[in-house]
Amino acid sequence: MSSPQIVWLRRDLRLGDNPALYHAARQGPVIAVYVLDDVRPGSHAYGGASRWWLHHSLASLARSLEARGSRLILRRGDAVEELCKIAGESGAEAVHANRHYEPWWRKAQGEMKERLDLRLYDANYLLPPGTVTTGSGGPYKIYTPFSKATLELLPPRDALPEPEALTSPESWPASDDLADWQLLPTKPDWAGGMREFWRVGEAAAHERLEWWEDHVDDYQEDRNLPSVDKTSQLSPYLHFGEISPVQIWHALKHKRSNGWRTFEKELIWRDYAQNAICQFPRYALDNYRDEFDKIEWRDPATDETAVRDLKAWQQGRTGYPIVDAGMRQLWQTGWMHNRVRMIAASFLIKHLLIDWRVGERWFWDTLVDADYASNATNWQWVAGTGVDSNMFVRIMAPLSQSEKFDAAGYIRTYVPELAGLDEPFVHDPPDHMRGQYPEKIVGHREGRERALAAYKAMKGER
Ligand SMILES: Cc1cc2nc3c(=O)[nH]c(=O)nc-3n(C[C@H](O)[C@H](O)[C@H](O)COP(=O)(O)OP(=O)(O)OC[C@H]3O[C@@H](n4cnc5c(N)ncnc54)[C@H](O)[C@@H]3O)c2cc1C
Repeated sequence: MSSPQIVWLRRDLRLGDNPALYHAARQGPVIAVYVLDDVRPGSHAYGGASRWWLHHSLASLARSLEARGSRLILRRGDAVEELCKIAGESGAEAVHANRHYEPWWRKAQGEMKERLDLRLYDANYLLPPGTVTTGSGGPYKIYTPFSKATLELLPPRDALPEPEALTSPESWPASDDLADWQLLPTKPDWAGGMREFWRVGEAAAHERLEWWEDHVDDYQEDRNLPSVDKTSQLSPYLHFGEISPVQIWHALKHKRSNGWRTFEKELIWRDYAQNAICQFPRYALDNYRDEFDKIEWRDPATDETAVRDLKAWQQGRTGYPIVDAGMRQLWQTGWMHNRVRMIAASFLIKHLLIDWRVGERWFWDTLVDADYASNATNWQWVAGTGVDSNMFVRIMAPLSQSEKFDAAGYIRTYVPELAGLDEPFVHDPPDHMRGQYPEKIVGHREGRERALAAYKAMKGER
């Protein structure tokens, strides 16, 4: 019997279009391994909502492997050390893995190459990060030219089928029991809303894609309307790699609609975000524009009013229905509509003058699609601190955004105390609602002026 091949799984929890698994299976018996490593990612170890998703995703993948006569080996600890141990115990010839670009995974891949025969594959992006380059061969910093260049280089590679067969090794290495990892919340169990909202796993991802095939043509018109709620909701499946963007692209490529073209560009934003963290590995931690290091944020660590405002934002009690609906949707389901993410993020950074990194942390803990690259890229974009970003001085007005994007139905769903209000009051509740719904924690004009003053002071224009 040929020697076993280890497949090191991370955010690629699928059997179809999984290059590492596919190539390993052609070379010998497969040992598929997931290592829960909470140390290497440092501040970006998985948050609560991601851990909930991860549990169900691993359980689903383990069932799929067992149905094919194979197994998923679970280990907890340092990823490189655990894989070296498994290789030693099993006599494995090589470790096959799909490339990951988070700075801690790039470091781990480098270390592993020194110790084992590590074979890396491109799996999780339309085009491998680093391959879309300018005329002079450098990486793009700005989305629009990156997107144009990507469109010229597409189509992506072909999607690979599931391996035809998975041969077992002569003996299996020891595995942890998933339940012992305690990824699910128990005291309290806050995941009820997420259980209702989501089905997790590779099969669920493909069902969602089938549903999306019938709706993508309307994406151009519907994508900004939270009440219509017609975006793909594929983000957590993509984040955990239960489906690949290449599979999605090939499934929808026959579409000729503007909706598909716009959707394709959103998938390119995802590629762009990876491209950004390849260039700026600390993108989730530092302002790209370092002049913002001087802005005087209100700091919840030292300022009582800032803590109060931060809590109101986190709990959906700001007195701005669109912001509160978004923050409550996030808490209940682990997901928030993109338009509302922008409004809620802008409100924290500008109306409340709280550092975008505080919001990035909250999203990291509460989103089921929390992604090092996409979260950082979007927070820096809204804040105006990023390499490609909106200007800080463009301050979204939550009340007019709510009307413009017709959010009444969305607000009535997530802020039930406002469900009886007609338009336009549901966007901006009248005074008699006080007692049932919070008063605005800051006036729009007051918040805007405070933000602009802080920006001017940063620029030395006081
Ligand atoms: C402050 C803020 C934080 C965000 N944090 C994350 C995050 O942690 N993880 C995440 O996946 N997305 C993040 N986004 C981007 C976007 O909001 C989500 O990708 C989108 O809402 C997911 O819903 P969907 O799958 O229905 O998207 P669709 O509109 O159906 O888009 C399809 C796919 O394209 C990708 N995509 C779409 N928009 C973006 C974008 N702006 N940037 C990068 N990729 C995009 C996603 O993978 C998404 O699933 C954030 C946006 C903001 C404003």
